[in-house]
Amino acid sequence: MPRASVDTHCPYCALQCAMTLGEPDASASPSSTAPVSVTARDFPTNRGGLCKKGWTSAELLGTASRLRVPLVRGADGELAEASWDEALDLVASRLRGIRDEYGADAVGVFGGGGLTNEKAYLLGKFARLALGTSRIDYNGRYCMSSAAAAGNRAFGVDRGLPFPVEDLDAADTVLLLGSNVAATMPPFIGHLAGAQSAGGLVVVDPRRTATARLTDDGQGLHLQPAPGTDLVLLLGLIHQVVAERLVDADYLERRTIGYAALRRSVSSWWPERVQSVTGVPATALRRLARRLAAGGNTFILTGRGVEQHVDGTDTATAAINLALLLGLPGRPGSGYGTLTGQGNGQGGREHGQKCDQLPGYRKITDPAARAHVARVWGVEPEAIPGPGLPAVELLQSLGRDGGVRALLVHGSNLVVSSPNVAAVRDGLASLELLVVCDFVRSETAALADVVLPVRQWAEEEGTMTSLEGRVLRRRRAIEPPEGTRDELWVLAELARRLECPATFDTDPERVFEELRLASEGGLADYSGIDYAMLDRGEAAYWPFPRGGTGTPRLFDERFAHADGLARLVPVSVRPAVLEGPAPDELTLVTGRLLEHYQSGAQTRLVPELLAAEPELRASIHPATAERLGIADGELVEVENARGRVCCPALLTTEVRVETVFLPFHFGDDRAANLLTSDLVDPVSAMPEFKTNRVRLRPAARP
Ligand code: SF4
Repeated sequence: MPRASVDTHCPYCALQCAMTLGEPDASASPSSTAPVSVTARDFPTNRGGLCKKGWTSAELLGTASRLRVPLVRGADGELAEASWDEALDLVASRLRGIRDEYGADAVGVFGGGGLTNEKAYLLGKFARLALGTSRIDYNGRYCMSSAAAAGNRAFGVDRGLPFPVEDLDAADTVLLLGSNVAATMPPFIGHLAGAQSAGGLVVVDPRRTATARLTDDGQGLHLQPAPGTDLVLLLGLIHQVVAERLVDADYLERRTIGYAALRRSVSSWWPERVQSVTGVPATALRRLARRLAAGGNTFILTGRGVEQHVDGTDTATAAINLALLLGLPGRPGSGYGTLTGQGNGQGGREHGQKCDQLPGYRKITDPAARAHVARVWGVEPEAIPGPGLPAVELLQSLGRDGGVRALLVHGSNLVVSSPNVAAVRDGLASLELLVVCDFVRSETAALADVVLPVRQWAEEEGTMTSLEGRVLRRRRAIEPPEGTRDELWVLAELARRLECPATFDTDPERVFEELRLASEGGLADYSGIDYAMLDRGEAAYWPFPRGGTGTPRLFDERFAHADGLARLVPVSVRPAVLEGPAPDELTLVTGRLLEHYQSGAQTRLVPELLAAEPELRASIHPATAERLGIADGELVEVENARGRVCCPALLTTEVRVETVFLPFHFGDDRAANLLTSDLVDPVSAMPEFKTNRVRLRPAARP
């Protein structure tokens, strides 16, 4: 039975819209499976708004697809029901065997950016102490890694928005690069209304998305660069700001280093040359440079569109360079930020799921950080393994000599969301043990040797950290289904069976207390935050040191580098960007739809969302369709050397003529990521999701 009325937050994206769950809605459709009603709650990020994903989220709690008992693959190759003891004993015994035969690094852990802070923290501790492996990474590698690397490089810290979302309300100008917030987090567009009415909303996106259409009144601007040329566009803007002496010279002098080298690095990117590469008119570029430098409240925001590239770190760095030249970061009412996507994409990258980090956003190679975390964990620093492998490299190692032989997956549907998923499936098939913790039978769970049915969202207590670095309470509204277990309990039980002497608490609040200690003194310091404070509704932005106060706005006086100064980092364009697709190729852009979240494993279970977007469709420009003889709705094949997907065509002028757009929310033979490359950014290890080359033809044609 539901509790009377519980305040919590949406299970999906990083806006973490506030909602109240209550008695089931008597007026709901008879087919509704929702055991609670959802009411939007006023909160600074969503101001009483929810998108249709949020409104329908309670359907997930009653879905018929819910897993309620552990599954173990038998000798006949089928998954069959087992008791928790049988499943956990089997997992522990096979992990021990694999570890004994191949070493601890033969066991890998793959986490997720939707896990609560408590789970993310305990998962990192479990990997390093109970398994003794360095091989842990997570699906945030596919989301935030480039912006995080750029932020760390420039500012010395990475917090998606280093200011509260409400600061955007008073903006005169917002430059939004590669983010379709109108589809991914619709209530967010309310924060763009000020800039929109001031004529200062500038959207950079190769697609004419719902967000880009916000500029249709002619006041704002939509720039539609060729996919993969965002870095050129930004270098052109920097060139123009420098050439027209629009930089904030005083700010550069006081707060940054590296201007001379940066200025030299952009000298050849004059507007007409940028136009020849990007297709963005030189006049628009000049106009934008002047608008950005006109004073007033100005923000530059980036999203996955410019970050999910093999040069994503450099592109995000260029956006930061531009912001620094204009003196925006730390200036009241202005700034640079990146829009984190996954529900706990921010907290998920702070507590030790990343292969190179320990809790508190500490570097795993830093002796002082290792000593601090080891003290909290009650071990010697040497007991903590060193850096592991980032997600793509970890997956490429599956089943190989010296690679991972057993993989535990938590909160990730990696055969849908990973690049080059055919290779990932092959890797998973070659494992000696695949264990998946999930609450539904996702495409990845279907491949597992052992599936452990865990609890979700409104069935559990915990905390999440929103895109603005604010820690929020997730609360239990209903009793979890019999047979399911909390992931904290699963980790503790496995640790016990693996005879790990370290403590693995199963109570979320006590795990948070430990997380606070482990984070103390780190960049993401949570030591001053506790559940009681969050339950009182206090706004808790990290860093929040013990006995201190939170930090809604970073950088007002200093950046996080030891000298307090930001770094201007020159970046350059790779020759391949200038080539473009061959005459018989199109550029594949992958992305999201309003109705689905991430791999779609959850939202495809919600009837209303599935009915609105039931299948994969390839968005193609009518001119391209005419050239290739493709009719609207006709089945087309999209293929390249890595794979092929077959789906109906959707003719739309939203996409550029040389591109095809595929959402990545669908699985199996309709996974867009069958076509994406597992080449990665050399700094962030972000894969390339936006500029893969494909060929397109009607499915029936040989
Ligand atoms: Fe809000 Fe995101 Fe949930 Fe939509 S999916 S209701 S934007 S938190």
